[in-house]
Amino acid sequence: MPRQILGFERDAAGEWIVRLDCGHRRHVRHRPPLSDYPWLADAAAREARVGAAIECGRCGRGELPAGAAEYRTTATFDEATLPAGLRRDHTIRAGSWGRVEVLEGRLRFVMPPLAVDRELAAGEHAIIPPEVPHHVEPLGAVRMRVVFLRAPGPDA
Ligand SMILES: [Zn+2]
Repeated sequence: MPRQILGFERDAAGEWIVRLDCGHRRHVRHRPPLSDYPWLADAAAREARVGAAIECGRCGRGELPAGAAEYRTTATFDEATLPAGLRRDHTIRAGSWGRVEVLEGRLRFVMPPLAVDRELAAGEHAIIPPEVPHHVEPLGAVRMRVVFLRAPGPDA
């Protein structure tokens, strides 16, 4: 899914890495015709790409960025107290991730843009990338909560 470029850095081998607003980093290489980034070698052209969108495969796979740190946990909800806002599509703001955790019972977790529709049992969890619409639905009695994590900063 498309993410915003925050900046560039190089790995030990000198290959370019883009830092994305989701907290992921990805290599970009100019290897035409499969990987066509002729602007990579030019500092001004790279700078002009900051803020532009580039595809992040790791978000598409629901991979939590390395170094993401927990900063808040919701109350534990059951099938009666689960807020209506979580039962219909909603999103987590840019730069923040969620981990929906099922403590007891069963919960349906649906994230249409990433074609996710799965049942979570007690002890299981699902990862929610920033800005991706998702919702949950109790399947009978359930106890669940959501842990929020912040993507690592530029120096992480
Ligand atoms: Zn990402």
